[in-house]
Amino acid sequence: MTLRDKFGRPMRSLRISVTDRCNLRCQYCMPEPEYVWLPRENILSFEEIAALTDAFTAEGVGRIRITGGEPLLRRELPALVASLASRPAIQDLALTTNGVLLKSRAAALREAGLHRITVSLDTLRRDRFRALTGSSDFDAVITGIHAAAEAGFPALKLDTVIMRGTNEDELIELLAFARTVNAEVRFIEYMDVGGATRWSPAAVVPRAEMLEAIGRHYGGVIPTEERSSAPAERFLLPDGTTFGIIASTTAPFCATCDRARLTADGVWLLCLYAAGGTDLRRPLRAGASQDELRQLIHAVWSLRADRGAEERLGMDRQTTLVPLRALKKDAHLEMHTRGG
Ligand code: SF4
Repeated sequence: MTLRDKFGRPMRSLRISVTDRCNLRCQYCMPEPEYVWLPRENILSFEEIAALTDAFTAEGVGRIRITGGEPLLRRELPALVASLASRPAIQDLALTTNGVLLKSRAAALREAGLHRITVSLDTLRRDRFRALTGSSDFDAVITGIHAAAEAGFPALKLDTVIMRGTNEDELIELLAFARTVNAEVRFIEYMDVGGATRWSPAAVVPRAEMLEAIGRHYGGVIPTEERSSAPAERFLLPDGTTFGIIASTTAPFCATCDRARLTADGVWLLCLYAAGGTDLRRPLRAGASQDELRQLIHAVWSLRADRGAEERLGMDRQTTLVPLRALKKDAHLEMHTRGG
């Protein structure tokens, strides 16, 4: 029988963070100069990640996304990809990256069996990229996106967090750029989870406003499919271009959320907004069997009642969710630790 949580939601996908480190300092994720990092000895080895993945797939997970921090900073990542890709229970194996190191890794990742890649790209302007990320690696990201397209990833996606006063004037340019590399853009509403210490309601560009601006330019926007458990709603333009919008702030999709998240040190989170999680590293390193891990996962998911973004909708939104003081005390509250 399918494992379901308190609201009847199955556990189908798992986001695995392989590192909490990142080589960019994006305003909406890691804007501060200093962070509390996970202790190195706590970071899961590839063998440990594979063992936990097996316990999750035995309980129903079929989709895996490798995240970070920036996952390409993890040495020998293609070895993990190859190990996961060889498991028949995993039907979909994807990775989200900022693209900085993608040029030299795309072909090896594809060869190792990675199915899909999503690259974060918030602007097409060098000066904005520098202001947004604190880095001058814009050209490396663009080259990386081209390398991923050339490596033959079939469903290349570009994720763009739209922020008012920052990049909301680039919707049309980003759609045009995506077409040139055979990618699909997904515009994401700015969220105030951990790490978003500069978030404010005024900086959110709602889905309706994005659709209006795109529709005005293209002469119409057509929704393409029924809402599934995927976070993005997809749309079609008159010229055949498709794109997605992830309205995580104004129209949360908690009701269909089937995502589990594993931090790089083996803490299992039931929600992006969860205040705490279940430490799976401890039982794993203490010698727990696959059966014992499965039972633990089964018991915890059965009791899941998380719906963080929906609850956040009803709260005072004039302040950020997690104050900087709290973030500095617990690395697990940070978005870059939670895998975004
Ligand atoms: S807020 Fe939590 S429950 Fe809602 S969609 Fe995000 S991860 Fe899922």
